[in-house]
Amino acid sequence: MKVYKFGGASVKSAEAFRNIAHIIKTFGGDKQLLLVVSAMGKTTNALEHIFDLAHKGEPFDKEYQQCLAYHREVVEELFASESNPVHERLEHLFLQLQQSLQTVPSGASYDKFYDQVVSFGELFSSTILHYFLTNQSLQNTWIDSRKYINTDTSWREGRVDWNWTERTIKRDLPEILQNQLIVTQGFLGGTNNGFTTTLGREGSDFSAAIFAYCLDAEAMYIWKDVEGLLNADPKYFTDTIRYPEISYQETVEMAYYGASVIHPKTIKPLANKLIPLYVKSFLNPAAEGTKICNCRFEVLAPAYIIKENQCLISFSVKDFTFISEKNLGTIFNALSELRLKINLMQNSAISFSICTDYNQERLHRLIQTLNDQFVIHYNTGLRLFTVKNYDNNSINKLSADKEILLEQRTRTTFQLVCR
Ligand code: ASP
Ligand code: MG
Repeated sequence: MKVYKFGGASVKSAEAFRNIAHIIKTFGGDKQLLLVVSAMGKTTNALEHIFDLAHKGEPFDKEYQQCLAYHREVVEELFASESNPVHERLEHLFLQLQQSLQTVPSGASYDKFYDQVVSFGELFSSTILHYFLTNQSLQNTWIDSRKYINTDTSWREGRVDWNWTERTIKRDLPEILQNQLIVTQGFLGGTNNGFTTTLGREGSDFSAAIFAYCLDAEAMYIWKDVEGLLNADPKYFTDTIRYPEISYQETVEMAYYGASVIHPKTIKPLANKLIPLYVKSFLNPAAEGTKICNCRFEVLAPAYIIKENQCLISFSVKDFTFISEKNLGTIFNALSELRLKINLMQNSAISFSICTDYNQERLHRLIQTLNDQFVIHYNTGLRLFTVKNYDNNSINKLSADKEILLEQRTRTTFQLVCR
Protein backbone atom coordinates (compact mmCIF):
# COMPACT_ATOMS: atom_id res chain seq x y z
CA MET A 1 0.00 0.00 0.00
CA LYS A 2 0.98 3.64 -0.34
CA VAL A 3 0.38 6.76 1.71
CA TYR A 4 -0.43 10.06 -0.01
CA LYS A 5 -0.22 13.28 1.96
CA PHE A 6 -2.00 16.36 0.67
CA GLY A 7 -1.01 19.65 2.31
CA GLY A 8 -3.06 22.81 2.83
CA ALA A 9 -2.35 24.21 -0.65
CA SER A 10 -3.66 21.05 -2.30
CA VAL A 11 -7.09 21.49 -0.66
CA LYS A 12 -7.35 25.26 -0.70
CA SER A 13 -10.17 25.51 -3.27
CA ALA A 14 -12.83 23.47 -5.05
CA GLU A 15 -10.50 23.17 -8.02
CA ALA A 16 -7.76 21.82 -5.76
CA PHE A 17 -10.10 19.08 -4.48
CA ARG A 18 -10.93 18.13 -8.07
CA ASN A 19 -7.24 17.90 -8.81
CA ILE A 20 -6.80 15.42 -5.94
CA ALA A 21 -9.46 13.16 -7.43
CA HIS A 22 -7.65 13.44 -10.76
CA ILE A 23 -4.29 12.51 -9.18
CA ILE A 24 -5.77 9.49 -7.44
CA LYS A 25 -7.48 8.27 -10.60
CA THR A 26 -4.39 8.82 -12.75
CA PHE A 27 -1.56 7.79 -10.43
CA GLY A 28 -3.19 5.84 -7.62
CA GLY A 29 -3.93 3.03 -10.05
CA ASP A 30 -5.18 -0.11 -8.44
CA LYS A 31 -3.04 0.57 -5.39
CA GLN A 32 -4.23 0.46 -1.84
CA LEU A 33 -4.08 4.08 -0.72
CA LEU A 34 -4.32 5.91 2.57
CA LEU A 35 -4.78 9.66 2.20
CA VAL A 36 -3.66 12.08 4.88
CA VAL A 37 -4.95 15.61 4.51
CA SER A 38 -4.09 18.98 6.08
CA ALA A 39 -6.45 21.82 6.84
CA MET A 40 -7.61 23.85 3.84
CA GLY A 41 -5.29 26.68 2.77
CA LYS A 42 -4.42 28.88 5.72
CA THR A 43 -7.16 27.52 8.00
CA THR A 44 -4.77 26.51 10.79
CA ASN A 45 -3.46 30.09 11.02
CA ALA A 46 -7.04 31.36 11.10
CA LEU A 47 -7.99 28.92 13.86
CA GLU A 48 -4.91 29.88 15.87
CA HIS A 49 -6.03 33.47 15.67
CA ILE A 50 -9.64 32.66 16.61
CA PHE A 51 -8.47 30.58 19.54
CA ASP A 52 -6.17 33.32 20.71
CA LEU A 53 -9.07 35.79 20.77
CA ALA A 54 -11.31 33.33 22.62
CA HIS A 55 -8.61 32.62 25.16
CA LYS A 56 -8.21 36.33 25.85
CA GLY A 57 -11.99 36.65 26.20
CA GLU A 58 -12.22 38.88 23.12
CA PRO A 59 -14.91 38.63 20.42
CA PHE A 60 -14.07 36.18 17.64
CA ASP A 61 -17.32 36.01 15.74
CA LYS A 62 -16.12 37.87 12.64
CA GLU A 63 -13.12 35.57 12.18
CA TYR A 64 -15.22 32.49 12.92
CA GLN A 65 -17.78 33.52 10.29
CA GLN A 66 -15.03 34.05 7.72
CA CYS A 67 -13.69 30.57 8.33
CA LEU A 68 -17.19 29.10 8.06
CA ALA A 69 -17.92 31.04 4.86
CA TYR A 70 -14.68 29.84 3.26
CA HIS A 71 -15.53 26.20 3.90
CA ARG A 72 -19.17 26.58 2.87
CA GLU A 73 -18.14 28.21 -0.38
CA VAL A 74 -15.86 25.34 -1.36
CA VAL A 75 -18.51 22.79 -0.42
CA GLU A 76 -21.18 24.58 -2.42
CA GLU A 77 -18.94 24.59 -5.44
CA LEU A 78 -18.09 20.90 -5.11
CA PHE A 79 -21.51 19.46 -4.39
CA ALA A 80 -24.38 20.15 -6.74
CA SER A 81 -26.88 18.42 -4.53
CA GLU A 82 -28.13 20.22 -1.46
CA SER A 83 -29.10 16.94 0.11
CA ASN A 84 -25.54 15.58 0.16
CA PRO A 85 -24.77 14.70 3.81
CA VAL A 86 -21.55 16.77 3.63
CA HIS A 87 -23.53 19.96 4.33
CA GLU A 88 -25.02 18.71 7.54
CA ARG A 89 -21.76 17.15 8.67
CA LEU A 90 -19.79 20.35 8.11
CA GLU A 91 -22.37 22.50 9.89
CA HIS A 92 -22.28 20.09 12.80
CA LEU A 93 -18.49 20.31 13.06
CA PHE A 94 -18.63 24.10 13.01
CA LEU A 95 -21.19 24.02 15.81
CA GLN A 96 -18.85 21.84 17.83
CA LEU A 97 -16.03 24.29 17.16
CA GLN A 98 -18.20 27.16 18.33
CA GLN A 99 -19.08 25.30 21.49
CA SER A 100 -15.48 24.54 22.33
CA LEU A 101 -14.58 28.20 21.74
CA GLN A 102 -17.34 29.39 24.02
CA THR A 103 -16.31 27.05 26.77
CA VAL A 104 -12.59 27.82 26.91
CA PRO A 105 -12.34 28.17 30.71
CA SER A 106 -10.79 31.45 31.81
CA GLY A 107 -7.22 30.91 32.85
CA ALA A 108 -7.26 27.54 31.03
CA SER A 109 -4.00 26.04 29.93
CA TYR A 110 -3.32 27.71 26.60
CA ASP A 111 -1.68 24.76 24.89
CA LYS A 112 -4.27 22.15 25.89
CA PHE A 113 -7.24 24.17 24.65
CA TYR A 114 -5.32 25.25 21.58
CA ASP A 115 -5.26 21.60 20.54
CA GLN A 116 -8.99 21.13 21.15
CA VAL A 117 -9.75 24.08 18.87
CA VAL A 118 -7.07 24.25 16.19
CA SER A 119 -7.57 20.57 15.33
CA PHE A 120 -10.91 21.33 13.66
CA GLY A 121 -9.19 22.43 10.44
CA GLU A 122 -8.26 18.85 9.55
CA LEU A 123 -11.68 17.53 10.59
CA PHE A 124 -13.31 19.95 8.11
CA SER A 125 -10.98 19.21 5.20
CA SER A 126 -10.97 15.44 5.62
CA THR A 127 -14.77 15.40 5.85
CA ILE A 128 -15.10 17.34 2.62
CA LEU A 129 -12.55 15.11 0.89
CA HIS A 130 -14.35 11.98 2.05
CA TYR A 131 -17.71 13.02 0.58
CA PHE A 132 -16.16 14.48 -2.54
CA LEU A 133 -14.21 11.33 -3.42
CA THR A 134 -17.32 9.25 -2.77
CA ASN A 135 -19.13 11.44 -5.29
CA GLN A 136 -16.32 10.78 -7.73
CA SER A 137 -16.87 7.01 -7.37
CA LEU A 138 -13.71 6.67 -5.32
CA GLN A 139 -14.99 4.50 -2.50
CA ASN A 140 -13.37 5.50 0.77
CA THR A 141 -13.68 5.25 4.52
CA TRP A 142 -13.15 8.31 6.73
CA ILE A 143 -11.24 7.46 9.84
CA ASP A 144 -10.54 9.59 12.89
CA SER A 145 -6.77 9.71 13.27
CA ARG A 146 -7.17 10.64 16.96
CA LYS A 147 -8.34 7.08 17.55
CA TYR A 148 -5.26 5.62 15.87
CA ILE A 149 -2.35 7.92 16.71
CA ASN A 150 -2.07 7.82 20.47
CA THR A 151 0.02 10.47 22.22
CA ASP A 152 0.84 11.68 25.70
CA THR A 153 -0.38 15.06 26.92
CA SER A 154 2.49 17.12 25.54
CA TRP A 155 0.02 19.57 24.04
CA ARG A 156 0.87 21.03 20.64
CA GLU A 157 3.64 18.49 20.27
CA GLY A 158 2.10 15.16 21.26
CA ARG A 159 4.63 12.37 21.71
CA VAL A 160 3.50 9.22 19.98
CA ASP A 161 3.02 5.92 21.78
CA TRP A 162 4.42 3.85 18.91
CA ASN A 163 3.51 0.41 20.24
CA TRP A 164 -0.12 1.22 20.87
CA THR A 165 -0.40 3.14 17.61
CA GLU A 166 1.14 0.42 15.47
CA ARG A 167 -0.96 -2.30 17.07
CA THR A 168 -4.20 -0.38 16.57
CA ILE A 169 -3.46 0.66 13.00
CA LYS A 170 -2.43 -2.89 12.06
CA ARG A 171 -5.54 -4.32 13.71
CA ASP A 172 -8.07 -2.26 11.72
CA LEU A 173 -6.73 -0.59 8.62
CA PRO A 174 -5.30 -3.31 6.35
CA GLU A 175 -8.71 -4.90 6.09
CA ILE A 176 -10.38 -1.65 5.04
CA LEU A 177 -7.62 -1.02 2.51
CA GLN A 178 -8.42 -4.32 0.79
CA ASN A 179 -11.29 -2.70 -1.06
CA GLN A 180 -11.41 1.00 -0.16
CA LEU A 181 -9.29 4.10 0.12
CA ILE A 182 -8.85 5.56 3.57
CA VAL A 183 -9.16 9.31 4.18
CA THR A 184 -7.80 10.67 7.43
CA GLN A 185 -6.45 13.83 9.06
CA GLY A 186 -2.88 14.95 9.37
CA PHE A 187 -1.58 16.81 12.41
CA LEU A 188 -3.86 15.14 15.00
CA GLY A 189 -3.43 12.62 17.76
CA GLY A 190 -5.50 11.59 20.75
CA THR A 191 -4.77 10.95 24.41
CA ASN A 192 -5.91 8.00 26.52
CA ASN A 193 -8.70 10.01 28.06
CA GLY A 194 -10.14 11.30 24.83
CA PHE A 195 -8.51 14.69 24.37
CA THR A 196 -7.14 15.85 21.05
CA THR A 197 -3.46 16.63 20.64
CA THR A 198 -1.63 18.15 17.71
CA LEU A 199 1.78 17.04 16.52
CA GLY A 200 3.36 20.45 15.91
CA ARG A 201 2.76 22.94 13.11
CA GLU A 202 3.10 21.39 9.66
CA GLY A 203 2.84 18.02 11.37
CA SER A 204 0.73 16.32 8.70
CA ASP A 205 3.85 14.97 7.01
CA PHE A 206 4.70 13.29 10.28
CA SER A 207 1.18 11.83 10.54
CA ALA A 208 1.55 10.36 7.06
CA ALA A 209 4.91 8.86 8.03
CA ILE A 210 3.36 7.31 11.15
CA PHE A 211 0.70 5.58 9.04
CA ALA A 212 3.30 4.54 6.44
CA TYR A 213 5.52 3.05 9.14
CA CYS A 214 2.71 1.20 10.92
CA LEU A 215 1.31 -0.20 7.68
CA ASP A 216 4.73 -1.09 6.20
CA ALA A 217 3.89 1.02 3.17
CA GLU A 218 5.86 0.48 -0.01
CA ALA A 219 6.13 4.27 -0.46
CA MET A 220 4.91 7.59 0.84
CA TYR A 221 4.13 10.60 -1.38
CA ILE A 222 3.90 14.24 -0.35
CA TRP A 223 2.00 16.26 -2.96
CA LYS A 224 3.11 19.89 -2.89
CA ASP A 225 3.01 23.12 -4.86
CA VAL A 226 6.73 22.84 -5.67
CA GLU A 227 8.50 20.50 -8.09
CA GLY A 228 10.16 18.44 -5.37
CA LEU A 229 12.84 19.00 -2.79
CA LEU A 230 14.69 22.14 -3.84
CA ASN A 231 17.99 23.56 -2.66
CA ALA A 232 16.25 26.78 -1.59
CA ASP A 233 12.80 28.19 -1.03
CA PRO A 234 11.65 29.75 -4.33
CA LYS A 235 9.84 32.41 -2.27
CA TYR A 236 13.24 33.84 -1.33
CA PHE A 237 15.64 32.65 -4.02
CA THR A 238 15.61 32.64 -7.78
CA ASP A 239 17.33 29.87 -9.78
CA THR A 240 16.64 27.02 -7.39
CA ILE A 241 17.72 23.46 -8.16
CA ARG A 242 15.67 20.31 -7.58
CA TYR A 243 17.37 17.26 -6.09
CA PRO A 244 16.17 14.26 -8.12
CA GLU A 245 17.34 11.87 -5.44
CA ILE A 246 18.64 12.59 -1.94
CA SER A 247 19.41 10.59 1.19
CA TYR A 248 17.33 10.41 4.34
CA GLN A 249 20.29 11.82 6.25
CA GLU A 250 20.67 14.96 4.11
CA THR A 251 16.92 15.54 4.25
CA VAL A 252 16.74 15.21 8.03
CA GLU A 253 19.49 17.77 8.39
CA MET A 254 17.81 20.19 6.00
CA ALA A 255 14.50 19.79 7.83
CA TYR A 256 16.27 20.35 11.14
CA TYR A 257 17.72 23.65 9.92
CA GLY A 258 14.24 24.73 8.90
CA ALA A 259 13.68 23.69 5.28
CA SER A 260 9.94 23.94 5.24
CA VAL A 261 9.21 21.27 2.63
CA ILE A 262 9.19 18.44 5.13
CA HIS A 263 8.40 18.28 8.81
CA PRO A 264 11.59 17.26 10.67
CA LYS A 265 10.03 14.24 12.37
CA THR A 266 8.90 12.68 9.10
CA ILE A 267 12.08 10.97 8.01
CA LYS A 268 12.97 8.78 10.97
CA PRO A 269 10.00 6.39 10.82
CA LEU A 270 10.42 6.06 7.06
CA ALA A 271 14.17 5.49 7.25
CA ASN A 272 13.71 2.86 9.94
CA LYS A 273 11.75 0.74 7.49
CA LEU A 274 13.51 1.97 4.34
CA ILE A 275 10.25 3.34 2.94
CA PRO A 276 11.04 5.76 0.08
CA LEU A 277 9.48 9.22 0.25
CA TYR A 278 8.52 10.97 -2.99
CA VAL A 279 7.98 14.71 -3.00
CA LYS A 280 5.89 15.58 -6.05
CA SER A 281 4.05 18.53 -7.51
CA PHE A 282 0.27 18.35 -7.49
CA LEU A 283 0.33 20.96 -10.25
CA ASN A 284 2.47 18.77 -12.47
CA PRO A 285 1.95 15.27 -11.15
CA ALA A 286 3.60 13.53 -14.10
CA ALA A 287 6.93 15.27 -13.38
CA GLU A 288 9.67 13.31 -11.67
CA GLY A 289 9.83 15.11 -8.29
CA THR A 290 12.33 14.02 -5.65
CA LYS A 291 12.97 10.57 -4.28
CA ILE A 292 14.24 10.51 -0.69
CA CYS A 293 15.75 7.16 0.16
CA ASN A 294 18.71 5.28 1.49
CA CYS A 295 21.23 6.58 -1.05
CA ARG A 296 24.49 8.50 -0.85
CA PHE A 297 25.64 11.32 -3.05
CA GLU A 298 29.01 12.88 -2.44
CA VAL A 299 28.51 16.34 -3.88
CA LEU A 300 25.24 18.14 -3.49
CA ALA A 301 24.44 21.67 -4.57
CA PRO A 302 24.54 24.03 -1.56
CA ALA A 303 21.18 24.16 0.20
CA TYR A 304 19.92 27.52 1.49
CA ILE A 305 17.53 27.39 4.40
CA ILE A 306 15.78 30.24 6.18
CA LYS A 307 14.06 30.18 9.55
CA GLU A 308 11.93 33.26 10.13
CA ASN A 309 10.70 34.80 13.36
CA GLN A 310 13.80 34.00 15.35
CA CYS A 311 14.84 35.37 18.70
CA LEU A 312 18.44 35.76 19.84
CA ILE A 313 18.83 35.57 23.60
CA SER A 314 22.06 36.21 25.47
CA PHE A 315 22.76 35.39 29.09
CA SER A 316 25.60 36.87 31.08
CA VAL A 317 26.56 36.34 34.66
CA LYS A 318 25.84 39.27 36.97
CA ASP A 319 29.14 39.39 38.83
CA PHE A 320 31.51 39.53 35.82
CA THR A 321 32.67 35.96 36.34
CA PHE A 322 32.70 33.59 33.41
CA ILE A 323 29.85 31.43 32.19
CA SER A 324 30.45 28.06 33.82
CA GLU A 325 29.17 24.59 33.06
CA LYS A 326 26.95 24.98 36.12
CA ASN A 327 25.44 28.16 34.66
CA LEU A 328 24.92 26.39 31.35
CA GLY A 329 23.18 23.53 33.16
CA THR A 330 20.76 26.00 34.74
CA ILE A 331 20.02 27.60 31.37
CA PHE A 332 19.55 24.25 29.59
CA ASN A 333 17.20 23.01 32.31
CA ALA A 334 15.01 26.08 32.01
CA LEU A 335 14.94 25.77 28.20
CA SER A 336 13.98 22.13 28.37
CA GLU A 337 11.25 22.78 30.96
CA LEU A 338 9.74 25.42 28.71
CA ARG A 339 10.26 23.35 25.57
CA LEU A 340 12.23 26.13 23.91
CA LYS A 341 14.40 24.56 21.24
CA ILE A 342 17.85 25.85 20.49
CA ASN A 343 18.38 26.41 16.78
CA LEU A 344 21.94 27.66 17.26
CA MET A 345 24.16 28.51 20.21
CA GLN A 346 27.45 30.24 20.89
CA ASN A 347 29.56 30.64 23.97
CA SER A 348 31.93 33.51 24.80
CA ALA A 349 33.91 34.41 27.92
CA ILE A 350 31.16 36.26 29.68
CA SER A 351 27.99 35.39 27.81
CA PHE A 352 26.12 32.56 26.23
CA SER A 353 23.79 33.15 23.26
CA ILE A 354 21.06 31.06 21.76
CA CYS A 355 18.78 31.45 18.79
CA THR A 356 15.25 30.01 19.16
CA ASP A 357 11.89 30.25 17.45
CA TYR A 358 10.16 33.27 18.95
CA ASN A 359 7.33 32.44 21.34
CA GLN A 360 6.37 35.43 23.44
CA GLU A 361 4.82 33.49 26.31
CA ARG A 362 7.68 31.01 26.68
CA LEU A 363 10.29 33.75 26.36
CA HIS A 364 8.73 35.70 29.20
CA ARG A 365 8.59 32.65 31.38
CA LEU A 366 12.24 31.94 30.60
CA ILE A 367 13.18 35.45 31.65
CA GLN A 368 11.13 35.12 34.85
CA THR A 369 12.89 31.88 35.68
CA LEU A 370 16.45 33.06 35.07
CA ASN A 371 16.26 36.77 35.75
CA ASP A 372 17.75 36.67 39.21
CA GLN A 373 20.82 34.72 38.08
CA PHE A 374 21.64 36.25 34.70
CA VAL A 375 21.50 39.50 32.82
CA ILE A 376 19.36 38.62 29.83
CA HIS A 377 19.14 40.50 26.55
CA TYR A 378 17.15 39.53 23.54
CA ASN A 379 16.36 40.59 19.97
CA THR A 380 13.29 39.44 18.08
CA GLY A 381 12.17 39.52 14.45
CA LEU A 382 15.37 37.91 13.21
CA ARG A 383 16.16 35.36 10.53
CA LEU A 384 18.41 32.37 10.76
CA PHE A 385 20.10 31.49 7.47
CA THR A 386 21.81 28.16 7.00
CA VAL A 387 23.86 26.99 4.02
CA LYS A 388 24.54 23.28 3.94
CA ASN A 389 27.42 22.09 1.78
CA TYR A 390 28.51 25.70 1.34
CA ASP A 391 31.24 27.10 -0.89
CA ASN A 392 32.76 30.60 -0.94
CA ASN A 393 30.39 31.74 -3.57
CA SER A 394 27.31 30.77 -1.59
CA ILE A 395 28.58 32.49 1.56
CA ASN A 396 29.31 35.73 -0.27
CA LYS A 397 25.93 35.64 -1.89
CA LEU A 398 24.24 35.17 1.47
CA SER A 399 26.24 37.64 3.58
CA ALA A 400 25.94 40.55 1.16
CA ASP A 401 23.98 43.53 2.54
CA LYS A 402 22.84 41.93 5.78
CA GLU A 403 23.13 43.14 9.34
CA ILE A 404 24.72 40.10 10.95
CA LEU A 405 24.26 39.51 14.69
CA LEU A 406 25.92 36.13 14.90
CA GLU A 407 27.84 33.86 12.56
CA GLN A 408 28.95 30.26 12.83
CA ARG A 409 30.64 27.79 10.51
CA THR A 410 31.52 24.11 10.61
CA ARG A 411 33.11 22.05 7.86
CA THR A 412 29.81 21.54 6.07
CA THR A 413 27.44 24.16 7.44
CA PHE A 414 27.45 27.94 7.54
CA GLN A 415 24.92 29.87 9.64
CA LEU A 416 23.97 33.50 10.14
CA VAL A 417 21.53 35.22 12.43
CA CYS A 418 20.56 38.57 10.98
CA ARG A 419 17.89 41.21 10.82
N1 ASP B 1 -2.63 22.24 9.21
C1 ASP B 1 -1.48 22.10 10.05
C2 ASP B 1 -0.60 23.31 9.91
O1 ASP B 1 -0.85 24.14 9.06
C3 ASP B 1 -0.72 20.86 9.79
C4 ASP B 1 -0.10 20.76 8.42
O2 ASP B 1 -0.48 21.50 7.52
O3 ASP B 1 0.79 19.95 8.23
O4 ASP B 1 0.33 23.45 10.65
MG1 MG C 1 -1.11 23.49 6.84
